[in-house]
Amino acid sequence: MRRRHENSIEAFAATDVGPVREQNEDAWLTEIDHGVFAVADGMGGHAAGEVASSIAIATVREILLGVKDPDETVLASEVGDTSDALRERLRYAMNQSSVRIRQEIERFPRYAGMGTTLVVLAVDGDQAHLAHVGDSRAYLFRNDRIFRLTRDHTVVQQEVDAGRLTPELARIVPHKNILTKSVGFHGPVDPDTSTRAVEPGDVFLLCSDGLTDPLEDKDIEAVCRSHAAEDLAQALVDEALRRGGDDNITVVVVAVADDLD
Ligand code: CA
Repeated sequence: MRRRHENSIEAFAATDVGPVREQNEDAWLTEIDHGVFAVADGMGGHAAGEVASSIAIATVREILLGVKDPDETVLASEVGDTSDALRERLRYAMNQSSVRIRQEIERFPRYAGMGTTLVVLAVDGDQAHLAHVGDSRAYLFRNDRIFRLTRDHTVVQQEVDAGRLTPELARIVPHKNILTKSVGFHGPVDPDTSTRAVEPGDVFLLCSDGLTDPLEDKDIEAVCRSHAAEDLAQALVDEALRRGGDDNITVVVVAVADDLD
């Protein structure tokens, strides 16, 4: 299964600090040999956002790659359904990220209140597993169309879901980025998880809200249609900057080969 990954998936990442901020509080992971990809968007003053997103990415890497994990409780071999096991592992990695961020806050009180979003994609053979907390998103570009795979954990999204706000208004209301869930800040994490079949030619995108604030889904789709996978991450970042994006912008592109057998 892993051999197939190495031969049939490519990954590309691009990031930009943006024109306003001094620090890039986004962090990302592209572990192509293990099929593990992630984006984290940190928050908190005194450089804490950077610390939180870095801890989350390091923890995901450690746990999903099996680098070092003394607390490991979920092993694929112990559970019959491997897709369940992988989703549990994603959930566990996110909770460990949260624990470690809060431990860091205990050591360094100036980091109080720091947290991060986290979206993780794990491709295992012909299955793609997703887990996310916060408003960093995953998209799938398939057959020339873009599909949003995640639902933002924001107050505004809750209002849209309840029918009290239209998606159009949701894009322009103040405080639209207030999160209902995050890693660290809110304590134990209950991520949304999902599994779907991978098809030849699929292109997955992971991104921070620095991309999706200035660009609507149809804009992202247009950039996807006009760029090859190897140019897509940078093209999306450039388009977000061109449209006035002022936040840190990060995009990870995971492209599945056309001739996947
Ligand atoms: Ca952001």
